[in-house]
Amino acid sequence: MAPPIEQPIPVSSGSSINSNETPGEAYHINQEAFQRMPLISPNLTPSQTNVSPQVPPVISQDERKALPIHDELPIVRCMARARIPTTQGPEIFLHIYENSIDNKEHLAIVFGEDIRSESLFAQRKGESQQDRMTRGAYVGKLFPGRVDADKDTRSNQTLKFDSNGKLIREPSTTFAGEPALVRIHSECYTGETAWSARCDCGEQFDEAGKQMGLAGHGCMVYLRQEGRGIGLGEKLKAYNLQDLGADTVQANLILKHPADDKILAVEGKNQDVKVTERIPMIPKAWTSTDGIKSKEIEGYLSTKIERMGHLLEKPIQI
Ligand SMILES: [Zn+2]
Repeated sequence: MAPPIEQPIPVSSGSSINSNETPGEAYHINQEAFQRMPLISPNLTPSQTNVSPQVPPVISQDERKALPIHDELPIVRCMARARIPTTQGPEIFLHIYENSIDNKEHLAIVFGEDIRSESLFAQRKGESQQDRMTRGAYVGKLFPGRVDADKDTRSNQTLKFDSNGKLIREPSTTFAGEPALVRIHSECYTGETAWSARCDCGEQFDEAGKQMGLAGHGCMVYLRQEGRGIGLGEKLKAYNLQDLGADTVQANLILKHPADDKILAVEGKNQDVKVTERIPMIPKAWTSTDGIKSKEIEGYLSTKIERMGHLLEKPIQI
């Protein structure tokens, strides 16, 4: 089956310039060009992508079983959460996780104060209300002098817990009704921070943020796996191979772009989570004058479509 492109999917269920070096002619900085450089993140203006959600593909049990992932979903625990005001308006909440598979601090970028992590909010032995507020397990908003994590006197919201200290999901404090938009996003330093036009990760990240900001709820699972796990050093080597003429497929194989099926990875072998819809992410440059344009990205996207079977259809150019 065709693997999906990184995208938000509704699920139910639960610059720096080295000042020590004197720039020579070759490193002369074109100030004008620099000012025109599009700042990719964050730009939470209304989404211009107008695509209908798609029904996810039917995945057979055999395909599910053959997936090279763990039989059970990893054990994850949310360590801390904090409110992040953004330059574009919506407040987001960053959640940091530890897990049973690697030692990386993976993130959830959450739109909506009322999307709660079970492991974060669960009561822990011996902790005080101050401890709970410090690690982000509070309802509503923090303000100077607040003393109770489980009760926000300003918004009049109170969290409730069962006898085991587990948060009870209630519509007044916890979002649980509608399916929420979810995107599984692999960290891409070059595309998200260094304005790279070799891939469209930054654009996809922004677009997913716009859609979640507009929806009011959503979650980006941000995986700290630069170059899908190969690390920044290997990724830069692969870029050099591309500049030396390496076939885009070879280069993308080095970048580990294939063999990537996020629906299966989200659902797990036992479908603990169910993907109800998926929303295709269409590169902006295909439908408008915005978006990333470069010969490198043309090659990257063509490879995704032609060789990796990504679910995008490039518009026919007449
Ligand atoms: Zn990228």
